[in-house]
Amino acid sequence: MSSHEKMGRVYLVGAGPGDPDLITRRGYFLLEQSDAVVYDNLVPRELIDALPARVERFYVGKKAGKHTLSQDRINKLLVQLARQGKQVVRLKGGDPFVFGRGGEEALYLVGHGIPFIVVPGVTAGIAGPAYAGIPVTHRGKAGHVIFVTGHEAAGPEASDIPWSGLAGLAEGTLVGYMGVGQLPAIVEKLIAGGKSPQTPAAVVERTTFGTQRTITAPLAELPARAAEAGITPPALFVIGEVVSLREELDWFGTLPLFGKRVMITLPVGHSTHLGRILRDLGAEVLDLPVLNFLPEYDRRAWTRLQAGIRPGDWLHFTEKNGVDYFLEIWRQQGKDIRALAVFSIAATGIGALGALETAGINPDLVATRSTTTVGLAEEMATQLELQGRRVVMVRGNTGDTGGDALLTSAGAEVIPMIVYRNITAKWDEDDLERFEQCPPDFVFITSEAAVSALVSILESERVKRLFANAVCISSGPSTTRAARARGIIIAIESTVPSVEGMVEALVASQINASK
Ligand code: SAH
Repeated sequence: MSSHEKMGRVYLVGAGPGDPDLITRRGYFLLEQSDAVVYDNLVPRELIDALPARVERFYVGKKAGKHTLSQDRINKLLVQLARQGKQVVRLKGGDPFVFGRGGEEALYLVGHGIPFIVVPGVTAGIAGPAYAGIPVTHRGKAGHVIFVTGHEAAGPEASDIPWSGLAGLAEGTLVGYMGVGQLPAIVEKLIAGGKSPQTPAAVVERTTFGTQRTITAPLAELPARAAEAGITPPALFVIGEVVSLREELDWFGTLPLFGKRVMITLPVGHSTHLGRILRDLGAEVLDLPVLNFLPEYDRRAWTRLQAGIRPGDWLHFTEKNGVDYFLEIWRQQGKDIRALAVFSIAATGIGALGALETAGINPDLVATRSTTTVGLAEEMATQLELQGRRVVMVRGNTGDTGGDALLTSAGAEVIPMIVYRNITAKWDEDDLERFEQCPPDFVFITSEAAVSALVSILESERVKRLFANAVCISSGPSTTRAARARGIIIAIESTVPSVEGMVEALVASQINASK
């Protein structure tokens, strides 16, 4: 292929400072459309996990003690991918042109005739102060803000940064990247240059994550305070009168789940909603999917279903997935949605009800009072005349068959139909390492299938060790039973089998705990 036939392109995209929702719409759109993504370690992990399976991923970031791809190799990789005709997203933490070497990469691309586009991102120097409750400019307190790198501050041949000049600029804010290690030297130079030792100052570590930490102190004391607290990268320092506003404006640190790590064990692609709710409450979300779903065509069940459909036959859905995959298979068979009109439709469970409503279907029977499959079948059997009716039970391969016998004894002909299969997800060693280093405070356990997947990924012993100090929240009795059978202690059980119900139960327990 001549490179003229299909020219690739590189998008230098800012991923934002850590919270995966802080990427721009354009950046997110480009990620989804890309052929290849080249990313660093400060890039939110969720953005990579959410990529469509066809997208190639290249991790080029630093890992403690492990080999890093040199800047030169990264440059070459970008050119090589673009020359293969690919749409390449070069995803960088924060903004690509703020201390991100995006400029160097862009120059290299220009030098090699590769077209590129820049998509700015929320830089840590803006996000960090914002999430610490510090406006970087403020009338009467700061009329300018300076971003500076602290990286080069130490050493005899030292820095290009005119620290004493910066010290002389009154009424402004100084935001320092990469400077935690050099903080003592920097502060010394600023004070020597005339900055008041009393200037309010802060260090913000891991900003936008629920485990963000902020240390404030008068400038002269900041290095010692940061060292005492054991601040490690990534962290920023903020110096200026604006820091004092944090006393009143600390919106993030006062959220109910701030400082808590919450692990969610939902399947691939299903955790966005819950993740967002939890982050809105201030939590740091460890989103490690334990399951993947694949649609499944259950030939036997479909053949039975289609053999003589009679008005009054029931389609029975117990969960959202069942509805979604049933409709997907229905469409794939070239069928019109109106052809469903002949069936009566039952939704037992809130998830199934919501998914049907989304599809524009109002079920003929809704049973949501009970939280067990058997209980729901009971509700159905007491409300309906099932004698001689066919009831198609739509579910996944690990779905609970507990209600079938009850419906059969009420006179129904039960047709079990599997529409999707649970596949246990794989975690690589990096995931496990990350997890061991930062074990969760709370774990959301959302189904029996999630329990078995979790145990098969981690093995029982590891689960016990990692969850030793965690509070586990279960979606309902059958999940609780499955978890207990595997030695997982459930502290909170949701009375409503939905993620919202689980979050409510958790927040309520926190409020009680703090009383
Ligand atoms: N291009 C990035 C900066 C890369 S340099 C941006 O625009 O944000 C890396 C430095 O950014 C870190 O040493 C730290 O000072 C800062 N940084 C990045 N992410 C951070 C975070 N989540 N919390 C605090 N500081 C962060």
